[in-house]
Amino acid sequence: MKAITCAFCKGTGKDPFNLLSELATCQVCAGTGKVEIKEPVIKCAYCKGTGVYPQNGRVTCTVCNGKGSVTVKGATIPCPECKGTGREIDSGLPCIKCGGKGVVKK
Ligand SMILES: [Zn+2]
Ligand SMILES: [Zn+2]
Ligand SMILES: [Zn+2]
Repeated sequence: MKAITCAFCKGTGKDPFNLLSELATCQVCAGTGKVEIKEPVIKCAYCKGTGVYPQNGRVTCTVCNGKGSVTVKGATIPCPECKGTGREIDSGLPCIKCGGKGVVKK
């Protein structure tokens, strides 16, 4: 496991959108500013590493759960379906083939 800075709150530990109150803690890292993730990790293609769900800007990315990084094991290639963007071209939803990671197993 590797500790990374929480992408959703950018390491502040606070809810970046103040949804509940100004003092609400970040739901992703529970206020610690750090999250643990299994290695090896790559940047989440779907949210571009921001941890924020692109369709609705105020909730956590469903691909990386707000961490901004995802675990990818083994050799991978860019997803041929979404060309590595992690998005379905028509709907903008996470790509079904790669699950939004932007890469698939070689
Ligand atoms: Zn956080
Ligand atoms: Zn993401
Ligand atoms: Zn894809």
